[in-house]
Amino acid sequence: MKEDILHNLGIINERIKKACEKAGRNPDEVKLLLATKTVSAERIKTALQNGQTLIAENKVQELKDKYDDLKDTPHESHFIGHLQTNKIKDILKYNVVCIQSMDRLDLAGKLHQRLVSEGKTIEILIQVNTSEEESKFGVHPDKAVELTRKVAEFSTLKIKGLMTIGLFSAETEKVRSCFKILKKLQQEIISQNIPNVQMKELSMGMSGDLETAIEEGATIVRVGTAVFGARVYPDSFYWDEGK
Ligand SMILES: *Cc1c(COP(=O)(O)O)cnc(C)c1O
Repeated sequence: MKEDILHNLGIINERIKKACEKAGRNPDEVKLLLATKTVSAERIKTALQNGQTLIAENKVQELKDKYDDLKDTPHESHFIGHLQTNKIKDILKYNVVCIQSMDRLDLAGKLHQRLVSEGKTIEILIQVNTSEEESKFGVHPDKAVELTRKVAEFSTLKIKGLMTIGLFSAETEKVRSCFKILKKLQQEIISQNIPNVQMKELSMGMSGDLETAIEEGATIVRVGTAVFGARVYPDSFYWDEGK
């Protein structure tokens, strides 16, 4: 079981390296984030003790459940799931460095209020629904620049870039067009020079499409199944929550 994880990590790192070579990019520009939903703390630890540093959960409950078991193993924790406003107080207890799934103004406003009262700041990526599938969260691409502008007015939220989940499709070119939309939005936002906004991170690409994402400029790829194996729950359990 431990061997599986190490073997899979080797394969993923090789895939990232090859994709970077093909795209003429330096592999140091691409971070591997492990999507750890449904994965036990013990298995996550195996990855963290073997060179991995970046992990992310989709649900505050799972973050909470695994927190004590992982807190003494060095790592950086991100959040990539749909965040409900009634979970804001809770999520701030678990040392999350970056919320990648910021997709609406009311969430930003409430998060800011809470951060102010705790004297903290947090990193944010704006999640964009580039596939325009109803089942997926994220701001519509047409509204992404405007949302970025408004979220940037909250001084506790440090915008570092954009995140998307590409279309689930075997047709690479359709998936690629999602990643191109995110890259284009990044360029547009950079050109507007919005105060309090950095656009250095593009979080896109997962187990099935990370090569395409890297070719289109990903700086963070989020990988779950290709490292930890298939999940018991369907992804809709994580992505349709509250809809
Ligand atoms: C689960 C998940 C991933 C990883 O998906 P895999 O296909 O298992 O690699 C990436 N991003 C988000 C937002 C996820 O929920």
